[in-house]
Amino acid sequence: MKILVINAGSSSVKFTLFDMDQDVWLAKGLIERMKSPAASLKYSNHLGQKMEKNIVANSYEAAISAACLALCDNEYGVIGSLEVIVGIGHRVVHGGAEVSGSLRLTPEVKQTILDCYALAPLHNPPNYEGIEACEFLFPEIPQVAVFDTAFHQTMPAEAYTYAIPAAVTAQHKLRRYGFHGTSHHYVALAGAKALGRDIKECKLITAHLGNGCSITAINQGRVADTSMGVTPLEGLVMGTRCGDVDPALVLFLCRAGHSVDDVDKLLNKSSGLLGLAGIGSGDMRDIITAADGRNAAAKLALDVFIHRLQKYVGAYAAVLNGFDALIFTGGIGENSARIRTLVCERLGYLGIELDPAKNRANEIVISRNATGPKVMAVPTNEELMIARETARLLS
Ligand code: ADP
Repeated sequence: MKILVINAGSSSVKFTLFDMDQDVWLAKGLIERMKSPAASLKYSNHLGQKMEKNIVANSYEAAISAACLALCDNEYGVIGSLEVIVGIGHRVVHGGAEVSGSLRLTPEVKQTILDCYALAPLHNPPNYEGIEACEFLFPEIPQVAVFDTAFHQTMPAEAYTYAIPAAVTAQHKLRRYGFHGTSHHYVALAGAKALGRDIKECKLITAHLGNGCSITAINQGRVADTSMGVTPLEGLVMGTRCGDVDPALVLFLCRAGHSVDDVDKLLNKSSGLLGLAGIGSGDMRDIITAADGRNAAAKLALDVFIHRLQKYVGAYAAVLNGFDALIFTGGIGENSARIRTLVCERLGYLGIELDPAKNRANEIVISRNATGPKVMAVPTNEELMIARETARLLS
């Protein structure tokens, strides 16, 4: 059973072809700088062959056609014909308050995605365009939407409700939606499996640390709390996003003469590690290098990042009334033994102790304690989760 997974962004399309009988990927690629003369395709297959070339990709249809040509290419391709693809799974960021699981695409489901444009203005429009392009190119192939917000719909009202007037909440559909849900769900399932347990028997804290960062408390397979809110701005310190601030700070800046758009850009694009360190990069590797080179602002950026994370783990330990494992994932969480050490050395009171050798080797279980919570580094795989959900809905 071959499933194609599409993640359509504002100027890029990521694609992965899976063989679900083996639960493995066959080929994947990225089309970047769409709608520009510099559009390019990067592609690799499971045999280790890679290709990179400039393409014409003035539309999502053109970009996805280029991906399909690569999949069927004589030299690099992995399938003889597109007819073997039985389903297409799409990453969709926002499903609003009504969507609590993956859905087969119908006109009603597409309308739900459109209705959430205001809640995810950067993500839902390109996700939608990717869906329309695939429907145009492959009218016979069933399509499925897998929503970043869906897993978080299991959260209780006490955790997702903002303490503002209920009428305003209802009018604007305001609540903690949470994001990275597919990733949190995937690593929670994979982490529980690696511990030889069922997710329904575990209390887990999953920290997705990439360019965007979020942390989720999961109790027996259901979300107990998560750090991102009505938008992906709330919570942890991120590459360019501030995470938690006093909401009155926004009012203060507006009254001080900044426009609403200015403040939006300031908090989403110029803050976080980038804004704190002032070295022109919000990439954690650059921040660590600068901090080690005695750049005081970069050192502060690192400290603020770690402090916020420490605070959230403590809060979620309290929300869960104890937990079985802390799971790190995302580019930083999976690869940075240093960040994991800096956080975990502040969590000894919870019974957490890292095994330095296992941590350095990025093993799955990186703690050494026989009792108390385990610490894990679990690579995320949102595409595989989307493919599994697509296969589940179509079978
Ligand atoms: P995205 O959220 O865009 O998918 P990723 O999950 O790939 O991003 O994470 C990107 C982040 O991971 C960057 O801040 C990058 O510096 C960081 N990262 C990747 N490898 C390492 C590493 N070995 N040490 C520290 N940070 C790393």
